[in-house]
Order: sequence, then structure tokens, then C-alpha cells
Amino acid sequence: MHNRQERTCLKCGDKIIKCYVDDGLKGLLVKNPDGDRLFSNKKNTNINPFICTNCGFAEWYADKPEDLI
Ligand SMILES: [Zn+2]
Repeated sequence: MHNRQERTCLKCGDKIIKCYVDDGLKGLLVKNPDGDRLFSNKKNTNINPFICTNCGFAEWYADKPEDLI
């Protein structure tokens, strides 16, 4: 198991680093549609991209995937 900061690229095996999108400081907010209510959806988490510094491949990981269920 890799820890959160030590993932490797699926494409080339090089190191990938955690980045963020410049549109929401903690990442993009994603929501499980099953959690939709009129005014809120608590089944959500932020996702952030991990990007390979060698080939540029990007993977997205949820900060708290367990919060989606
Ligand atoms: Zn790569």
C-alpha cells in the first residue's frame, strides 16, 4: 500500500505528486446523487489530482471517499 503522498504513475511508474485545482482551495467538491436533498447533500467529498511529473498523467483521488456513502 502506498500512503497518501507516495503514489506512483499507472502509466510510467514514476512518482506522482498531489496537486490542486485553482478553483476551490480544497479541491473539487463531488457529491453522491443518492444524497441529494432539497437544500443539502452531505454525501460529498473533495477530490484532488495527483499528477505524474514525467508523463503528465493525472489521477484523481477523493480526500474522504467514505463520506460518499
Ligand atoms: Zn507517468
